[in-house]
Amino acid sequence: MNKKHIDELNIAEENKIVRDNINNLNDEYNVYITIFDDDFNKEKIPYALKDNISLKGKRMTAGSKYLKSYISPYNATVVDRLNDKYNVVGKTNLDSFAFGSSTENSGYFITKNPYDKSRVAGGSSGGSAAAVGLNMATFALGTDTGGSVRLPASFCGVVGYKPTYGLLSRYGLAAMGSSLDVPGIISRSVYDCSYVLNSLISKDPKDVQTYESEVNDFTQFNISGKPKIGLIKELNTQLFTNMMGKDVYSNYLSSIKLLSQDFDFVEISFKDIEYSLPAYYIITPSEISSNMARYDGIRFGGDEAKHNSIDEIYYSGRELFEDEVKRRIFIGNFSLSSGYADKYYENAVSIRNEIRNKLSDIFNSIDAIFLPTSPNVAFEIGSKTTNPVEMYMEDIFTVSANIAGIPAISIPSGFNEKHLPIGMQLFAKRKDDFKLLSFANRCEEIFNFNND
Ligand code: GLN
Repeated sequence: MNKKHIDELNIAEENKIVRDNINNLNDEYNVYITIFDDDFNKEKIPYALKDNISLKGKRMTAGSKYLKSYISPYNATVVDRLNDKYNVVGKTNLDSFAFGSSTENSGYFITKNPYDKSRVAGGSSGGSAAAVGLNMATFALGTDTGGSVRLPASFCGVVGYKPTYGLLSRYGLAAMGSSLDVPGIISRSVYDCSYVLNSLISKDPKDVQTYESEVNDFTQFNISGKPKIGLIKELNTQLFTNMMGKDVYSNYLSSIKLLSQDFDFVEISFKDIEYSLPAYYIITPSEISSNMARYDGIRFGGDEAKHNSIDEIYYSGRELFEDEVKRRIFIGNFSLSSGYADKYYENAVSIRNEIRNKLSDIFNSIDAIFLPTSPNVAFEIGSKTTNPVEMYMEDIFTVSANIAGIPAISIPSGFNEKHLPIGMQLFAKRKDDFKLLSFANRCEEIFNFNND
């Protein structure tokens, strides 16, 4: 992998490498759903766009057969902001509507892991992470509602950054869980990620949740003194150690040892991490069930819908929804239905508030939290598809950042004995993205991960 920073690349050369890799590897790894052969631009840096982010005049499938012929009529704000310096070379594979952790829920194909083709690349932004891991793009944009940028980044040995909720605009993203959705960056290094972030920030009138960033150059990393990093003591209890692969747990422990030269690790209690997953898997499907109501056979895609009666319009296109899409709509409608809403949805929302409060208390005394990105390395294709809950468990370490709206990043921290990459995460306080990236950059220097 090219170790040069993004602003030091020879752009024409980089375009050639990326183009050749796309031609040679896409059929083998199933990375891109759509490739823009004609749009290759030798003066701009080539990047990959997850196929749930709008690019004007181009097809956006969101990974679902339902949208197989839908053309975006406008650009997402994040795309507009990158247009001057960067060029989209293709739209990458994802779990249908971004519901999943492996791209096995995609309506198209399963993206293969760059390090082992029998394993998943992670999800839902699996195509974006594999594109960066395989040098089929200089960087990629994804979306992170519950870990979809960080988890695949950790499986593919690259950096995955989820900003504070509201730092980047959601305008032009296929909405999943609107109170959690954020665009995120997948890159070769923390520097590249920060460099790209510089072009993406600033308030967007098209997304009321966005705010003006106080920092405008995220590449001027700065760490003062020896920052205090929290280690969640509950991760050492059986509940979590049983869930975690031995390889991930031992990498976590050895990473802490390595990083101790620059960071002061302190133990914190964050028992609620245990409840973050159940709360996430109620809140998100509830929001999904409402967001999916727009796919009514009239407004988007749904070309298969028969138009003889209103019922036919509503129902016939729905057969194109993948199983996980239907499952989430059912779970969401159930958790919101009268008689059950207080037991499920409202209960989950109060857990969310508790998690937010607890984390903001924690950040009064520490600078960041350090934890693994996922309990396991990339798993075998097909090994978790029979039991959806097993798949959901892979998100145990990522979802609390989304629930609390705080920034988080996954950094490659080493390999297991099968040479599969492992990733570690940092969480920081809301709007502390600059601090987070500065720490992540230092961790990256210390880990000295070699993704060749
Ligand atoms: N894996 C999580 C889920 O399936 C996260 C998805 C996401 O962040 N888009 O909900």
